[in-house]
Amino acid sequence: MPTYDYRCESCKKKFTVVQSISQHEKSRTACPRCKSRDVKQLITPFLVKTSRKS
Ligand SMILES: [Zn+2]
Repeated sequence: MPTYDYRCESCKKKFTVVQSISQHEKSRTACPRCKSRDVKQLITPFLVKTSRKS
């Protein structure tokens, strides 16, 4: 499952959630700390580690 990185605009904390793509599209993510929905998704390259084809 893909992971998504977010930053909460309320408490300025970063957090990572693991969601299926359909879950991600359906539901708004809330901050696990302060429950704010004022979160921004951080676009990070998630193939940081070695990725090999085949
Ligand atoms: Zn927060």
